[in-house]
Amino acid sequence: MARIALISGGTRGIGAAISTAMKAAGYSVAANFAGNTEKAAEFHAATGIPVFQWDVSDYDACVKGIFEVEAQLGPVDVLVNNAGITRDGMFHKITPQQWKEVIDTNLSGLFNMTHPVWPGMRERGFGRIINISSINGQRGQMGQVNYSAAKAGDLGFTKALAQEGASKNITVNAICPGYIGTDMVRAIPQKVMDEKIIPQIPVGRLGEPEEIARCVLFLASEEAGFITGSTLSANGGQYFAG
Ligand code: NDP
Repeated sequence: MARIALISGGTRGIGAAISTAMKAAGYSVAANFAGNTEKAAEFHAATGIPVFQWDVSDYDACVKGIFEVEAQLGPVDVLVNNAGITRDGMFHKITPQQWKEVIDTNLSGLFNMTHPVWPGMRERGFGRIINISSINGQRGQMGQVNYSAAKAGDLGFTKALAQEGASKNITVNAICPGYIGTDMVRAIPQKVMDEKIIPQIPVGRLGEPEEIARCVLFLASEEAGFITGSTLSANGGQYFAG
């Protein structure tokens, strides 16, 4: 029987690459998204992957959405917490709303999505939770205090929950991508990209979403069962976490 994988924010960017790669590897995949129904419909038409709309920052919506996914596909074996947003600004300019939106989506979203699938994974004695954090959660980034705080929080979440899941054959790991060519990064002005960002990446280019998808496939596999609580950096040599 195919394993069931749920990818939050699975219809665009890195998430779309993860959903597509997991389907190609034989998983039965559900892709969640927030509000871009046009992109989600395009993604569904192109891949045949079922798409489910809810907001990961809303706990009740996650419980309801996961119930629908499980009714349609079966119990979730692999959860990829990929949905994320930016609301950038220098600290003296960001608003409480910008702080809250990023924390609610990028950090509380992990609780909201993982909590409903956790009891089933414990009962069945198998689970894979893969959290997409960020290089900027590892090293901090000016103009992204909210985002860096949330993404660093994702790493603490990963390490603590890994200890709780280990005896039940549930692994919990994080991936920290560097700069990947998606809508999120395309929002950065080209001049900043060419003069500030690319020169800081030793391999001299942005990463591809598919390069992150391959990391997810590895961590989701049976063979990765000894790896838990770890952080996999995929950043073109830009930052070496200790
Ligand atoms: P995109 O902006 O390209 O796509 C984001 C996806 O997340 C979309 O499917 C979006 O849905 C969904 N999403 C956003 N908010 C919510 C929400 N509240 N509830 C449900 N779904 C939501 O992002 P990327 O592919 O660039 O990023 C994916 C992840 O990787 C994020 O967590 C990001 O922080 C992280 N990351 C990205 C890097 C990069 O360079 N791109 C670098 C490091 C980390 P919809 O289409 O409906 O808006």
